[in-house]
Amino acid sequence: MSNAVPFSSNTRVMSFSDLSEDVLDQILRRLPDFKTLAATIRTSKQLYGILDAHPKSITRKIAETACGHPGVLPAALRLVRKVIKGNLEDDETEPEDEDENEIVVPQEPPEGEMLAVPLTREEAQLLEEHGEVIRSMQDIYSRRHKDRMSSASRLTPDEALPFKRGMYRFWLFCECYAPSEDDDRDDYRYDDRQAARQRAADEFLELLPADDLFEVGAAAAFCAEMHECNYTAANAAHNHPMIPNWHLDHSCLGPGSIMEDFEKLAITQPEDSGLFWTSFERAVTRLGLNQKTRDDRLADAITREVVGANDSCDRCHAVRGIDLWGATNWPLIRGFISLFEFTTLLPGHLPRNDIETTPLLQRLGSEHYFRGTCRAEADEIITKLMEEMIETDVDGGGTWTRDGWYCLDCVRELFKERLWRWWYAKKREGGAPEMENCWYGYNCRTMLHRRLHASKLNHLCVPTRGEL
Ligand SMILES: [Zn+2]
Ligand SMILES: [Zn+2]
Repeated sequence: MSNAVPFSSNTRVMSFSDLSEDVLDQILRRLPDFKTLAATIRTSKQLYGILDAHPKSITRKIAETACGHPGVLPAALRLVRKVIKGNLEDDETEPEDEDENEIVVPQEPPEGEMLAVPLTREEAQLLEEHGEVIRSMQDIYSRRHKDRMSSASRLTPDEALPFKRGMYRFWLFCECYAPSEDDDRDDYRYDDRQAARQRAADEFLELLPADDLFEVGAAAAFCAEMHECNYTAANAAHNHPMIPNWHLDHSCLGPGSIMEDFEKLAITQPEDSGLFWTSFERAVTRLGLNQKTRDDRLADAITREVVGANDSCDRCHAVRGIDLWGATNWPLIRGFISLFEFTTLLPGHLPRNDIETTPLLQRLGSEHYFRGTCRAEADEIITKLMEEMIETDVDGGGTWTRDGWYCLDCVRELFKERLWRWWYAKKREGGAPEMENCWYGYNCRTMLHRRLHASKLNHLCVPTRGEL
């Protein structure tokens, strides 16, 4: 740290003892996280003394940094405290005392009370973990709803605040009202408990001012959108629907579980419906707004202005704005077109020739989806595939460029035109022997029922006989 301290005019190196308490206090407040704070106060008795004198204000400032904005801290703390309390309750495994009376799910202490209680070490740690999740989600949100050309968040402070606050509140909602894993669905009072949760959930949202309500709604809608993308991505290498019960309302999955699925290329399936959208509907109905106003307020609750909102597809010129695909957002496309769908875009009968599709899926990284790891590697594979397909020289190329932006329909066209050529080139690069072309090329039917034929001849070629 002494490196950062300026030299005085007589070149004597200044030490901490030359700095005023105020300056040292400011230094501690600007530390990026609690780990750095702990390490820093260990380096000097004087710094330790400063923290000892102002523990509340210094830890509050670092807590604000952890959750990204001072205005978000009460909501973030309320979540952290609920999670810690929930874990304690789980440990106690006390049988619930339910008699004939109506079951009541109490509200959590309000946000307004949060800052008055000093932060514990456990809370600080969880606050930072949550902050990390919300930051990652904000980067993705920004790429999908604000500025597709940047992988880091481009939300303005005016947009980041409602995003984060909405996310923390929705997360708390999920912690409070999601059906618990231990809650026995066959128990005769399960429906009563679910009804009690719904009443409390309704009240939770009704207590929010209108703007804040739409903010939480927008956060929930983004979680739903990510869940759907995770679902598509996780079905990467399956040719049949992997998961039943798709009729469930998935709004009981909060940012924590959504982001974990995203990182692991996996999908979490809740056992019962979430309650959010029912409560949201009731709370919004009470506002007495017409449908258009409701839709507009939900759509504008976070993003004020979309970068490139009127941009058009470089191939078909359709105006698609944020829904255009190119260099910075290729990895996210797996949430829209699964690896399995890639193989269906091969020409002719190739999609049903597993002598080609199985190794192709492997090449596209399907094992990452099975193992549930290495999102970074999966990102790289897909980005490289797109770039290499774009650069494949077909009849003089044209149309596609690496820095172009394309709509989803055109991206599918790119796959149809070039995936099979790319796959042929990759096989040759990988040392596969050159094989004689089948006359019927990708339209050959024999390759579907005669494995020997399928493996002896090349079918990644244009037919020269039969239906051309
Ligand atoms: Zn297009
Ligand atoms: Zn053939």
